[in-house]
Amino acid sequence: MPDVIVIGDGPGGLSAALFLAKNQIDVVVFGQDKTAMNYALLRNYLGIPEILGTEFQRIARKQIAEHGARLRGDSVEAIAQAGDGWTVTLEGGEKQTARYLVLSEGKGPRLAKQLGLQFDEHNGIATDRNARSSLDGVYIVGRSARPGRSQAIISAGDGAAAAIDILSRIKGENFVDWDEPPKT
Ligand SMILES: Cc1cc2nc3c(=O)[nH]c(=O)nc-3n(C[C@H](O)[C@H](O)[C@H](O)COP(=O)(O)OP(=O)(O)OC[C@H]3O[C@@H](n4cnc5c(N)ncnc54)[C@H](O)[C@@H]3O)c2cc1C
Repeated sequence: MPDVIVIGDGPGGLSAALFLAKNQIDVVVFGQDKTAMNYALLRNYLGIPEILGTEFQRIARKQIAEHGARLRGDSVEAIAQAGDGWTVTLEGGEKQTARYLVLSEGKGPRLAKQLGLQFDEHNGIATDRNARSSLDGVYIVGRSARPGRSQAIISAGDGAAAAIDILSRIKGENFVDWDEPPKT
């Protein structure tokens, strides 16, 4: 059973998965690489002067897999509460349960709405600064949380904030993911 299920494989979902997998959290990401990034030419992602969205996605998918995140091409059809966690049902009927869910569904947050979260075309789904929704253990990141102001780097930042919050909850104290170069 994964610790965290991420639904959506755009920059929001992949960024959350990166921070989690890099810190030994068992995370699975569901998505078919149908992200809006496949239409983008990024010139506003700090640190990368210019990159095709498709190439960004290829690198990001490889990066998270190398840290141990599992990427699955299934579509998630439904979500239901299961004790203090959440069970997702995949197309085909397979079910998976985890304590935490990160929803990064993009412009059409069907599953979030199915959970009863209110979606407003202008303001998206309400979250706190750590991407927590009003449902315990459910995080909403990226375009679903700010539909009219969607940028790749903001989605990636949201995913990072959600992951750091989950890591802090699991560890019981504030967590930062800081690395240093080797000492010479
Ligand atoms: C033409 C165009 C040009 C753009 N140019 C730029 C640019 O220059 N710079 C910039 O910063 N941004 C640009 N963007 C916006 C950028 O693509 C988005 O900000 C970014 O993709 C949002 O990331 P996200 O992770 O929030 O959502 P998305 O990238 O939309 O990812 C959501 C993913 O979730 C998947 N998904 C949804 N529901 C399910 C489900 N039930 N089960 C499994 N998977 C599911 C979807 O298939 C999709 O892959 C552009 C967008 C377009 C369309």
